[in-house]
Amino acid sequence: MIDENFLKEQKKDCIILAHNYQIPEIQDAADFVGDSLDLCKRAAAVDKPYILFCGVDFMAESAAMLNPEKTVLLPTYDARCPMAAMLPAEKIREAKEEHPGAAVVLYINTWAEARAESDVTCTSANAVKIVKALSEKKILFGPDANLAWHVARNLPDKEIIPIPSDGFCRVHVMFKREHVLEQKEQHPEAEILIHPECKPEVQKLADHICSTQQMVNQAKASDSKEFIIGTETGLIYKLRKENPGKTFYPLLEKAVCRNMKMITPKNFQEELKERKNVVKLDEKISERARASLDRMLTLSG
Ligand code: SF4
Repeated sequence: MIDENFLKEQKKDCIILAHNYQIPEIQDAADFVGDSLDLCKRAAAVDKPYILFCGVDFMAESAAMLNPEKTVLLPTYDARCPMAAMLPAEKIREAKEEHPGAAVVLYINTWAEARAESDVTCTSANAVKIVKALSEKKILFGPDANLAWHVARNLPDKEIIPIPSDGFCRVHVMFKREHVLEQKEQHPEAEILIHPECKPEVQKLADHICSTQQMVNQAKASDSKEFIIGTETGLIYKLRKENPGKTFYPLLEKAVCRNMKMITPKNFQEELKERKNVVKLDEKISERARASLDRMLTLSG
C-alpha cells in the first residue's frame, strides 16, 4: 500500500507520470496515466522540478529530453524495454548508408541514442499520420516490424523498410489468430480493439487498430457494451475504472510486460523519498533526439 500522506507531501515538488501498463496501485498514485504520446505531452507541460516516471527506460528518456532543466527519476533502472534494445544506433547508421535519401522514422520505443539518428519520432497512435506527412516515399521504420506493417498497409504509396527486419514486442506477439477467434465466439457482441504491435494475422481480425489511449477513447465513444482488448493487460484496469457500465475481456490473460511490472509500490516509494535514480542523457545526443521528438509533436498537433 502506498501511504497517502507521504504521497501528498512528495507531490509538492514532484509530478508522477505512469504508463497505462502499470499496476493499479501505481496508476492510482499517479497524477496522470496515459500512453507514450500523452506522457510526452504531459512531461513537456510539467511545472514541478521533479518528474517521477513510472514506465520503461525509453519513456523516461523522452521526458528528460523534453525537460532538460528538470530532474527525471525512475523507480528502478531495471524497467527496460527489450524492443528498444533491438535497435542500437549503429544499425540505423548502417541502414542509412544502404538506403540514402530515405527518411528515418523511429517508434518512440527506442533509446535516445537511436532517436538521435532519426528524422522524426512516432508513437503507435500517430505512426500513420507522421509517415503520411513526410515528402519522402522511402521510409526506414523501426524497431517494431508489426507497426511497420500497419503503416505500410495504410500507406500503400510509401515504401516502408523495417529496421531491423524482425523487431517485435514480446508481449504483443503472444497474441494469435486463434485467441481472437476463441474470444469472439465467447463474446460475439464484443468490439475487437487491437494494438498495432500485434502480428498481422491478429491485426486483420480487429474492428479497430488502436494505441492504448485510442482504446480508452474508443471504449468511451462506442455504443458497444463489451470489448475484447488486444494489448498488455494493465490497460484493463483503466478501462474498467473509466467505463463502469461496460465489460472488457483481455485477449490473453498472460499478456503481461514483466519489464513494466518491475515498478512496485516499494521501489516507487523508495525513489520518491531518496530521489537517486536520475535519468541522465548525453547533451548532444539529447539535443538531436529532441529535435526528432519535437518534429513529431509538431506534425501530430
Ligand atoms: S509492452 Fe512491449 S514494447 Fe512495451 S515496454 Fe513491454 S516489451 Fe517494451
